[in-house]
Amino acid sequence: KSTRWDSEDSESKQLPIYQHRNKLTQAVKNSPFLVVTGETGSGKTTQLPQYLHRAGFCKYGKIAITQPRRVAAITVAQRVAQEMRCPLGREVGYQVRFDDCTSQDTVVKYMTDGCLLREVLADPGLSQYSVVILDEIHERSLNTDILLGLLKKIFSNPAKATKGRAFPLKVVVMSATLESDKLSSFLGDCPVFAIPGRTFPVTCTFGSAIGPKDIESTAYVKEVVKMAFDVHTSEVAGDILVFLTGQSEIERACDLLFEKAETVDYRFDVQDPTVEGLLILPLYGSMPTDQQRQIFQPPPPGIRKCVVATNIAATSLTINGIKYIIDSGFVKQLNHNSRVGMDILEVVPISKSEAQQRAGRAGRISAGKCFRIYTKEFWEKSMPEYTIPEIQRTSLTAVVLTLKCLGVNDVISFPYLDRPEERFILEALKQLYQFDAIDRRGRVTQLGELMVEFPLHPGLTRSLLKAASLGCQDLLLPVAAMLSVENIFIRPGRPEKQKEADKKHRGLATRVGSMNDFATLLSIFQSCKSSDRPSAWCKENWIHWRALKSAFSVETQLREILLRLQQVQNFPVETFDGNKSELLRQCLCTGYFTNVARRSMGKVFCTMDGHGSMVHIHPSSSLFDQEAELNWVIFHDVLVTSRVYIRTVCPIRYEWVKDLLPKLHEVDVYELSSVARE
Ligand code: ADP
Ligand code: MG
Repeated sequence: KSTRWDSEDSESKQLPIYQHRNKLTQAVKNSPFLVVTGETGSGKTTQLPQYLHRAGFCKYGKIAITQPRRVAAITVAQRVAQEMRCPLGREVGYQVRFDDCTSQDTVVKYMTDGCLLREVLADPGLSQYSVVILDEIHERSLNTDILLGLLKKIFSNPAKATKGRAFPLKVVVMSATLESDKLSSFLGDCPVFAIPGRTFPVTCTFGSAIGPKDIESTAYVKEVVKMAFDVHTSEVAGDILVFLTGQSEIERACDLLFEKAETVDYRFDVQDPTVEGLLILPLYGSMPTDQQRQIFQPPPPGIRKCVVATNIAATSLTINGIKYIIDSGFVKQLNHNSRVGMDILEVVPISKSEAQQRAGRAGRISAGKCFRIYTKEFWEKSMPEYTIPEIQRTSLTAVVLTLKCLGVNDVISFPYLDRPEERFILEALKQLYQFDAIDRRGRVTQLGELMVEFPLHPGLTRSLLKAASLGCQDLLLPVAAMLSVENIFIRPGRPEKQKEADKKHRGLATRVGSMNDFATLLSIFQSCKSSDRPSAWCKENWIHWRALKSAFSVETQLREILLRLQQVQNFPVETFDGNKSELLRQCLCTGYFTNVARRSMGKVFCTMDGHGSMVHIHPSSSLFDQEAELNWVIFHDVLVTSRVYIRTVCPIRYEWVKDLLPKLHEVDVYELSSVARE
């Protein structure tokens, strides 16, 4: 095999990390744990794995580099494959949930932290790898934090670290911020390698539009558009990066910006270079990767690039040429909501440290400017100093099950970089008990061992396993797949188009007979799959074809996992003596009895999980406006605005959950955690 990888391109030689490549590889060699810090864009993610590869580390195993975000794993792998001049999926590949682009030849593997966590389950010694790089540690994602604790636990014992290996595993932890002392002391005072960076000053200004009272308003979308346009028409050449919170908002902002740009006569001289036009590019997680590639290309001469992005552009991806930042001050974040007792995605003010990261993106090539659309008062009163790590603000159910299956029974004294509150751990144990994944003493059950194999929410897995034990997995697999992909329904921006789409979507729902959003998902999946021209079918029904394609692939993968598990002994088998048409709904109840609501009056429902929250059916549900006919329902998730809405809803009978509901209250959490305390 011929290799041409040593031909480093000149671009990567310009990166700050380049001069330190030899010392850096040496530092990795010299110590089992190493902390590497360096400014965003210094070349950590794309270059270090290549240096290690060239230094021969791959002789002893693959190099894994984890990313908290799937888009980052994919985009960076593409870039590195290009730099190493090999097709993606050969020497360089990536693996994210439900999408594995690696082969026998893959030695540099970018992957999400969740995927590596699953690999630890299968092989706690990580024997395939010579180096594991935990990247973007500063993001403090739940899975990265857990991996950090696990790697510390497994590999800080020298005997274990070398067991069955020709070469002890090297663990590198990379961060863009300077928490190096904390990380180093967590990892037994391991060495720290700080890549000196050069940054230029960024001038930050506050706006007047968004104040502390506007925390729940979405006015910031219009404000950033206005600001971006002002910058475009008044500032010297240089690209703009706008930070917003999510896809629909970003698309709206791009539309608004485009409309505005259409109305002006282009070609104005901003001081010296002429700026003729504005190239508007969205950037968010679920975007097709070919579209993402455009983001990194320099704009044509005279054209200013304006990237409208989620937080992904803060540290995970570096876009060259940015001189102006427009900061909305908000981010979409998964938080445990104590009002409804569930994790929900919500838009919240960013922290001050996050705002500084965002501003920093403007100072990579020359002095830059950051326009914050919020007031100084908003900064002082509404923005926390630091972002709370995910482990301290989201449900731990899935990771606690993973830890238990890894034999970490004592989940309370596990080495956490930042300890979650004990009540969060107890809450996770309680949920696992409710799903029959652990027994009263906190020990993993046979069912729990099966559940951990599925990369799904434990409740959904529980329903799927129930269906499989009854032999009706064909009903649940597509539903689970459809719930795992984003944005199935197209929601057009223009009101008249929206009406048309709504009508089609309602039509899809009524086809299933009784109104039931889960059954609608199943029906869409089946109709599209059996159609001769599935993409045309999607177009006609205002369904995202790309999402459906992913759902097909996810369904196949879930089916494979299930088949594999069914071949092992003791897969539960049950009989069903109910009504066949109710099979789907009854299976769903097994995993969703934690999400049961009962109509109390009018259109208001009350949840049965002990929180007794008042909830409404979301307008996107086919059951919206049918409330009068309903009594008991289960739901997939909630959306909290001024009201609490439940989404993906299905009517059920009380008998189906009658025996399960007491489980929500009878649990003795202290008994559950007793194993942990022994
Ligand atoms: P760090 O991890 O230290 O933040 P990276 O290794 O991600 O730095 O980035 C180094 C350089 O590689 C940056 O200049 C960035 O713009 C460039 N780069 C990264 N990914 C791509 C890509 N997909 N296309 C073009 N350039 C890229
Ligand atoms: Mg990086």
